[in-house]
Amino acid sequence: MSVEQKNSYSAKILGRVQPSASAWVSQTAKKLIAEGRDVIDLGLGEPDFDTPSHIIEAAYNAAKRGETRYPPTDGTPSLKQAIVDKFFRDNQLTFDPSEIIVSNGAKQVIFDALMATLNPGDEVLLCAPYFGQYSDMVTILGGQPVEIPCTSERHFLLEPKALEAAITPKTRWLILNSPSNPSGATYTESDYLELEKVLDKHSNVLILSDEIYEHIVFDDFEFVSFTTACSDLRSRTLTVNGVSKAYAMTGWRIGYGAGPEGLIKAMTKVQSQISSGACSVAQAAAVAALTGSQQSVADFKAAFERRRDLVVNKVKGISGITLDAPHGAFYAFIGCDELIGATTETGDELTDDAAITEYLLEDAGVAAVPGSAYGLSPFFRISTATDDKTLSIALDRIASSIDKLTFK
Ligand code: PMP
Repeated sequence: MSVEQKNSYSAKILGRVQPSASAWVSQTAKKLIAEGRDVIDLGLGEPDFDTPSHIIEAAYNAAKRGETRYPPTDGTPSLKQAIVDKFFRDNQLTFDPSEIIVSNGAKQVIFDALMATLNPGDEVLLCAPYFGQYSDMVTILGGQPVEIPCTSERHFLLEPKALEAAITPKTRWLILNSPSNPSGATYTESDYLELEKVLDKHSNVLILSDEIYEHIVFDDFEFVSFTTACSDLRSRTLTVNGVSKAYAMTGWRIGYGAGPEGLIKAMTKVQSQISSGACSVAQAAAVAALTGSQQSVADFKAAFERRRDLVVNKVKGISGITLDAPHGAFYAFIGCDELIGATTETGDELTDDAAITEYLLEDAGVAAVPGSAYGLSPFFRISTATDDKTLSIALDRIASSIDKLTFK
């Protein structure tokens, strides 16, 4: 027995946790590309644009000014103020800086919140399909993820009845995400008000509203923040947002949360033990993003909308797959029910969406993520954060791979 086998490096809980599926798919795609294979990576969700130059300048200037020391754990005063101003400008919400925390990406905001509040066995309600990390974070922290299926017939929106049925005395959080990764589902004010009627009756439930795709909405859809719609639930709502998606700043790792002061304090305590304040120069960059020209946000959104249209039109012409036109974010969550049971040219049966994505990678050279990674099958997610030409080629390749299948 090797030393490695004898001394397992993993805590027991890690046996129940998967590495991020989209990161795995992307890494596999990169490996195949490095081996010389012609693979289009539609796995990872990050804008393909460069960070706007005024934001980069701000980081450089901050470093030159000497903003290179440990920042306060909960964020620099200037970024917290920029976030307060952003909430007022975009969401008509008034927060005090004591109700704001800045973290290493929205992901850490979510982790801080769950770690600060979950006791063993506490349940966290997830609207499937959901951003896969929610479930793994809950599991790592000893909580119990509870999936509520949200079907394509209802545009992947949470039904109030289904929410009511899922709540138990052990429910600690409901996690909402609009626009949604992976489905692009977006909630209107009246959708939220219907959910509020249920949540009003269950004061044990905290609400985490992940609004990281706020600015990427289409068809003149008017984004509404959960807290703006349901102000009566403000004292138990944490709004999560960040600069990664709207400003093409995924690598800068700045996210933020806004919620009741007591919760923010508990989250700050967690963060102080793990990572301290987020990178000081990245925080200065985030100030420039939030307070500077918002033109690039509008430009990025226009590009994502054009690509959404391209994908929707292409999928319409491919038999065997379906797509409910997403109203936001930069993904297409494609239904592939009709492909289940089909056989490939080499005689393999496509038994589930994981088999379908494996086939697409192998045959079409297109990397996509199976719906199972998001808690709803059979679907696969492609990211539309890729230039129009590559997207178009990828969909043509998917179409010809589907053409080669034999159906019973
Ligand atoms: N929430 C959702 C719904 C996401 O899709 C992502 C990124 N894929 C995140 C949070 C994490 O964002 P950040 O890069 O700010 O950690």
